[in-house]
Amino acid sequence: MQDIIKNLPKQAKDKHNENKKFFQKLKKKPPKNLDYIMQELHENEFKQTDCLECANCCKTTGPLFTDKDIGRIAKFFRIKPQQFIEQYLRIDEENDYVLQSVPCTFLGADNYCSIYEVRPKACREFPHTDRKKFHQISNLTLKNVTICPAAFNIVEEMKKRIK
Ligand code: SF4
Ligand code: SF4
Repeated sequence: MQDIIKNLPKQAKDKHNENKKFFQKLKKKPPKNLDYIMQELHENEFKQTDCLECANCCKTTGPLFTDKDIGRIAKFFRIKPQQFIEQYLRIDEENDYVLQSVPCTFLGADNYCSIYEVRPKACREFPHTDRKKFHQISNLTLKNVTICPAAFNIVEEMKKRIK
């Protein structure tokens, strides 16, 4: 897995133009059963890819934290939301709360998340490959394939499946 992660930025760069064209076409005319196809590709991929062997999203990017996330996680730590913000978060260029540093503070050496049950919504949903109307998040996906081997594979399968 470490080799795959290491080679991913280059592989994604090589595929960037092809992927961009594919998503432009997909946006114009998404297949009627796109949600179904994505569900299937997502499930197949995550049968083979074990996030515990990877954790590259937690190591390199980290999520944004909504107010709801902050309230829930602060409660888990039995501290005030403001205390949680001061200790772990900062505001980014887009005015969102994000981690002060990556790898994520809550990631263990064994790749387990110490706040798994209460983790941010963005962590639960990453890499968003099973969400509905997947064609609407193509710019985000073009970024995600550079850090997530599963997202990369899913996009490769999409191109084979949707002509
Ligand atoms: S979601 Fe993607 S980047 Fe994150 S751990 Fe799983 S395979 Fe790795
Ligand atoms: S909160 Fe957990 S799942 Fe989210 S980035 Fe941190 S370690 Fe990963």
